[in-house]
Amino acid sequence: MQLHNTASGRKEPFVPQNPERVTMYVCGPTVYSYAHIGNARPAVVFDVLARLLRRRYPRVDYARNITDIDDKINAAAAKEGVEIGVITARFAAAYHEDLAALGVAPTDFEPRVTEHLPQIISMIERLIASKHAYAAEAHVLFSVASYPDYGQLSKRDPRELLAGARVEVAPYKKDAGDFVLWKPSPPELPGWDSPWGRGRPGWHIECSAMAEALLGDTIDIHGGGHDLVFPHHENERAQSTCAHGGAVFSRYWLHNGFLTMDSEKMSKSIGNVLLVREILKHAPGEAVRLALLTGHYRQPLDWNDEALADARRKLDRLYGALRDTADVAPATDAVAPDAFLAALDDDLNTPAALAELFELARALNKAESADDKARLRAQLLDAGSVLGILQADPAAWFSHSTAAGSVSNEEIDRLVAQRAEAKKARNFAESDRIRDELKARGILIEDSAQGTRWRSIN
Ligand code: AMP
Ligand code: ZN
Repeated sequence: MQLHNTASGRKEPFVPQNPERVTMYVCGPTVYSYAHIGNARPAVVFDVLARLLRRRYPRVDYARNITDIDDKINAAAAKEGVEIGVITARFAAAYHEDLAALGVAPTDFEPRVTEHLPQIISMIERLIASKHAYAAEAHVLFSVASYPDYGQLSKRDPRELLAGARVEVAPYKKDAGDFVLWKPSPPELPGWDSPWGRGRPGWHIECSAMAEALLGDTIDIHGGGHDLVFPHHENERAQSTCAHGGAVFSRYWLHNGFLTMDSEKMSKSIGNVLLVREILKHAPGEAVRLALLTGHYRQPLDWNDEALADARRKLDRLYGALRDTADVAPATDAVAPDAFLAALDDDLNTPAALAELFELARALNKAESADDKARLRAQLLDAGSVLGILQADPAAWFSHSTAAGSVSNEEIDRLVAQRAEAKKARNFAESDRIRDELKARGILIEDSAQGTRWRSIN
């Protein structure tokens, strides 16, 4: 398998540190509002990577955190006059619901910052002891000058950072580029006792401490959206490397490109966000998932109605092939074809893998012998399982994809039967009328060798 490593700027063969236990850490959400479709992209992309790794290695330890201490959470709690736990419980639950609807499997670990304060404090103490951090005015700061490799991940010039060209200057910092590991909390804000007084951790140290606690000093893969390369991942790397006596923190750094809407980056600060739960009101989760996988994960992906409609049509085609062969028992030993897996092995090339998937569906549609059908059907199902699609009953897909709700399955079946009767009686005016009525309501009737079928067309 080849993975593009942000640290080297190129694709590298993936060789885990310990093939008996592959480790992956992906930065998860800060839970103060609902996830937008951009936030769903890393969750889906790294879910596919985890599925692929699980096929190859006996054990994959995948951690994705929940950030439940943050100033934006404090602000949301203050606004509603509730404890932060009310806000974080609500939005963590919503995040789980959204991801489940997108077919994202639960991770092996889901650490929360509020459950790792001792580990965070211990890591900060070690950084102070080794002179990589210093306490000043109830803050603790990481000393960027103490780590000569700083800037290598994001390819930034540390001198510029130290000079304060791009960072906040504060009186308690020795150098402008130094960043916060711990900061004081005033009485009205949530805070935890520490050797530096009552306060709360900075964002970056949380991930370093949780990755260490669950996965060890050196992890195989660290992932997240491209926006996290700097400063978040650069700072995580500095903290962890220095806390571990120079041991490599993450061997591979993977970053997904941004999801855009009308070519503009989707983000809460710009305000052009489309919530996952809003999209799910009008589209099946599986179509949303497929739409997120139609582009290569490192490229920007533009979200628009046509992309989603296209994903639905693609699933109609794939599930159509499965529905038409529902009576064949899949061959038990057939697995996803090599070309499909080779595409995913090439830095998770999902567009190329999907092309192979359609090739399979075409072959299945054309297959004549029971053996061919059994083999191709099993291959299609197995390949689908790596991408996290095609595991539903085709009947469920076709009924769900009429979720617009205008016509029930029973009514469609009744009208299809009526149309068949009309055709039999050579009353073509009536059979055409029924077909047009269904079309107007979003259902397309197709007469095929297998009989009359229908699918939704929105
Ligand atoms: P946040 O809750 O903003 O920290 O984001 C959670 C995850 O979503 C991080 O991995 C971000 O990099 C990622 N992310 C946020 N916005 C987008 C976007 N528009 N496209 C792709 N990934 C995003
Ligand atoms: Zn992180």
